[in-house]
This record gives sequence, C-alpha cells and structure tokens, in this order.
Amino acid sequence: MEFNILSLIYLLASVTFIVGLKMLSHPTSARKGNAVAAAGMTLAIVGTIFLYNEDGETLGNYGWIFGGLAIGSVVGTLAARRVKMTAMPEMVSLFNGMGGACAALISIVEFDHLIHQPSLSQTFLFAGIEWPKEGLLLIILLGLIIGTVSFAGSMVAWGKLNGSLRDFSFRGQQAFNIGLLLLILGLATYMVVALPANAQLLFYVIFALSILYGLFFVFPIGGADMPVVISLLNSFTGVAAACGGFLYDNKVMLTGGILVGAAGTLLTILMCKAMNRSLTNVLIGAFGGNTAAVAGGIAQGSYKEISLSDAAVVMSYANKVMIVPGYGLAVAQAQHACHELEKLLAAKGVKVSYAIHPVAGRMPGHMNVLLAEADVSYEKLLEMEQANEAFPTTDVVLILGANDVVNPAAKSDPASPIYGMPILDVELAKHVIVNKRSMKPGYAGIENDLFFRPKTSMLFGDAKKVLQDLITEVKNS
Ligand code: NDP
Repeated sequence: MEFNILSLIYLLASVTFIVGLKMLSHPTSARKGNAVAAAGMTLAIVGTIFLYNEDGETLGNYGWIFGGLAIGSVVGTLAARRVKMTAMPEMVSLFNGMGGACAALISIVEFDHLIHQPSLSQTFLFAGIEWPKEGLLLIILLGLIIGTVSFAGSMVAWGKLNGSLRDFSFRGQQAFNIGLLLLILGLATYMVVALPANAQLLFYVIFALSILYGLFFVFPIGGADMPVVISLLNSFTGVAAACGGFLYDNKVMLTGGILVGAAGTLLTILMCKAMNRSLTNVLIGAFGGNTAAVAGGIAQGSYKEISLSDAAVVMSYANKVMIVPGYGLAVAQAQHACHELEKLLAAKGVKVSYAIHPVAGRMPGHMNVLLAEADVSYEKLLEMEQANEAFPTTDVVLILGANDVVNPAAKSDPASPIYGMPILDVELAKHVIVNKRSMKPGYAGIENDLFFRPKTSMLFGDAKKVLQDLITEVKNS
C-alpha cells in the first residue's frame, strides 16, 4: 500500500518537473515554474524518506538524513540569497559540480555493495526486469565517469569564472585529452567484460583518471566559451543522476536526470548557435581566452565623446531609440534607472525598445532577468534577429555597458577570436551612443572598433550615474 502511494508521489513529482521546466521557458511564468518543480522535489524527498519500504525495511538513518538536509538547506539558501546577479554563473557551476560529485559518490557506494555482497547483486532490478551483474557494473561506471568529469570540470569552470584560475593549455593537450578519455573508456570496458580480480583497484584508477580528464577538459577552454561548457557539464550531471535512477529503480530520479541532461544538451546547442560555432570548435578552440586578448586588435584612431545634455536632446527628439543592455548595466545595477529613462522618453512620444543579445551579460537570459526585475515590459524586448531588422529605422542606439555583443570584428575580422559570432548590427542606426567607464575591453579581452567609428559617440561613466543624470537632462530638455 505504502509503496503504491510512493509510486504515485514519484509520478506527481515527475509531472511537476516537466511542467516546471515548461514554465521556466518564459520570464512571466519562470518564478512559478521554479516553485512548482521545487515543490515536486520536496514531495519526492519526503516520500522517499517516510514511505520507502523494500522487503519490509524502511530507510532509517534519520539523523544522518535530516542532518544532511539541514546543512544543505542552510548553505543553499544563504548562497542563493547572497549571490550577486553577476556571480550567478559561478554559483550554477559550483552547484552543478556538487550534483556531479553526488552521482559519483552513489557509484562508489554501489560499487562497494556490488563487490562485498555478490550474492545480492548477481542481478539487479529495473522496471520489473532482472538485469545481469555486468549491466549493473556498466551503469555504476558510467555514473562514476560522467559524474566525476562533471564535478572536476565544474570546479575548474567555477575557478575560472571567479578569476582564481586562468586558462591553461600545453602543446598536444587535445591529443592528451583524447588519449586520456580513450584510456578511461578502455579500462571501463575491460572491467565490465572481464570482471577482473583486481576490480577494486581498477575502479579507483578510473575514478582518478576521470578527475584528471575533467580538469584537463575545461582548463584550455577560453573564457567567453564558459557558458557553453557550463551548460554541457550541466547535462553531464543530469545523465550521471539518471544512472543513479537506474541503479535504484527510482523513476523520479531517472526522470529528473534525463530532463536535466536533455535541457542542458538543448541549451548547449542553442548557445553554440547563438555564437555561430560548432561544439567541437568550442571544445578545442581557445575562444576568448587570455591568448585572444591581443588578437583582433584592429581598433585605432580617435573616438569622440558626447555630453549628457547633447545625448538627452538627441534621444528626446528621436522617433525610435533602441537600448542595448550589456554586462556593465548589470554590474552598475542600473536596470531601474534604465526603465525610468525608457518611460520618460516614451512619455515624450519616443518609441523605445531593447535589443537583447543571447550571450549579453554573464549567463543565459541575464538581460531578460535583469530587466524583468525593473518591470520592463516583455513586449519591449527584441531578440537579436528582430533588433537587427529594426536598426535601419532606429534613430539612436544607446549601448549600456555592452561591448563584445556589438563588436563588428565578429563580422569583419577573420583574425578576431570572436569572428563568426552573430552581433547586434547597431551601426545600421543613425546614431550610436556608448556608455561605459573607459576604453577597456569586455569579456573576450579584445578591442572594439565600433567605438572609433564616425557614427559612434562615447558617454563615459558608471551606467547608473549616467542614467540618473540623463533622466534629469531629459526632464529639462
Ligand atoms: P562585455 O563583457 O563584452 O562588456 C561589458 C562592458 O561593460 C565592459 O567593456 C565594461 O567597460 C563595461 N562596464 C563594466 N562595468 C560598468 C559600469 N559600472 N558602468 C558602465 N559600463 C560598465 O559584455 P557584453 O554583455 O557585451 O558581452 C558578454 C560577454 O560575456 C560575451 O563575450 C559573452 O560570450 C561572455 N559571457 C556570456 C555569458 C552568458 O551566458 N551570457 C557567460 C559568460 C561569459 P568599462 O570597464 O570600460 O566600463
């Protein structure tokens, strides 16, 4: 009876994951989607703790379970509350790494069970079917390898994003990585097929090699490709968790893992598309890494500045103004001031929209989340393709702390490390006003020729201060 209720709970939780994921795909429903999926997860956890019953045995170990839950909840809540929006990718990477580590730990524990209780583990049950021991070992090894690579890789990504680790590569690293991966897969295959006497030693060798592979896999990947890599590692964690679902014949774990794996894979593909690059190119090309800083340095000549009052006048008398938000807007926390300027201009009869580049900021959807926080209407946000169609009829483009996403070198300079990435064609508009604090480069570490072009005027200063001053000027103009 209890087991049936648990199955029902698992089914319900799986449905909430799918519904939650669907709701996450739109900014208006995203918060609720998160809450729906979290409620489903809570239900699944509580159900497992209290209703799990196999051969008359309940879970037990309540002290350990609730101790772990309490520590995890406190750490997770504090971390999520305190994290700055700009440091979100780091946190995602760290949490994702923990997921990978959990999956690897499950494999270690289950391997221990497998070798110490052979009578119990000649076969394993999944979906009501008895599977051979080799199948069990295969799943354990897959969970171990994928989870460990995800853990080690995510730790490197975390270190790179918070600036404590630098890109690192050596001559022949790609060949080394491929060799390492083949060795891991070869050893795992040998273990499953031959079930050798020294299996325990081999298991830990595979574990150690997987850590090494995770580190060397992410070390050389360039800074600007980090979002793609994080998304890929996220999908790895999902697959590793799904392996746990197989091991325990736990449908909700399996569904959750598969959903994370599929969503991560789709996001990886979408981000590669947004950068107009193949996944192979992302994984073997050092795009936006330190070595790229000198490349693409085609910027030259002098730039011109515009005063606050002139900028206010140009915008107040325009028919159409397009705002291009970037990472600097998030750093300055200037989204509310930006929305106020937008409303002020709209009251003067100016049509204002926002051009959203898919990789603007430091995480997928960063600009959407930022502007939603300031209650900017979703109808005013244009995706890159729509914005590029609108630029030729736009009078003024106001760039707020964006740089790489408007760098024309991506289209014109084959030597540039961002060559091939689609950008916002702001130059098609009549005037371009760029707000940033200096002439320093953005994330990819490269110069931006746009700042030196005839249509462009620089408006230096912190985005929040500049926007507040612009608001005053627009009110007076
Ligand atoms: P960039 O990082 O290219 O440029 C941001 C600019 O903002 C800088 O040049 C900086 O110039 C300026 N800035 C910083 N602080 C302020 C401030 N307080 N006020 C005004 N300006 C400020 O940002 P983009 O959004 O154009 O591009 C995003 C980049 O990040 C891309 O290369 C992308 O690949 C990468 N990336 C994206 C992720 C994602 O998922 N979206 C994740 C990780 C990386 P200055 O110092 O002179 O002020």
